Amino acid sequence: MDQDRSPPFRAFQDYRWEGVAHLPYKEDATTPFKSVTRQVLFHEPDMGCELRYFEVSAGGYSTLEQHEHAHAVLILRGSGDCMVGDDVRPVATNDLVSIPPWAWHQFRATLGEPLGFLCMVNALRDKPRLPTQEQLAEMRRSPAVTAFLDTTERSA
Ligand code: MN
Repeated sequence: MDQDRSPPFRAFQDYRWEGVAHLPYKEDATTPFKSVTRQVLFHEPDMGCELRYFEVSAGGYSTLEQHEHAHAVLILRGSGDCMVGDDVRPVATNDLVSIPPWAWHQFRATLGEPLGFLCMVNALRDKPRLPTQEQLAEMRRSPAVTAFLDTTERSA
């Protein structure tokens, strides 16, 4: 009997899953983010990926970061905005977002409601990196990105 294996069924209620720990988004509190929680839904020892559920409260945002691993995101609750590289889009329930390796990315719940999303990642992955001042200046060459980052800073 494998102790790490999930039970076969977990009931859903109010965007929580039975027996799944409701965790702060990042263990490292120095990383800039606001009002985000994390639930690890699938983390099986013999699978190469993990599925998590993140929820950003109204007015909150995830960390602006990049890393080598990719993310596959399905918006599950509410709406907001997301930045992936030079692209800034409104997102809503059931939209899919693919974040390729090394793309700068951030999610924000801008519309007065929580933004919840499933995120699939490699089980083994590199640590996210934060932008340097030079990289932020480079990102801001895109007017859409500048508008997005300014909105995040105003809500910080
Ligand atoms: Mn990320």
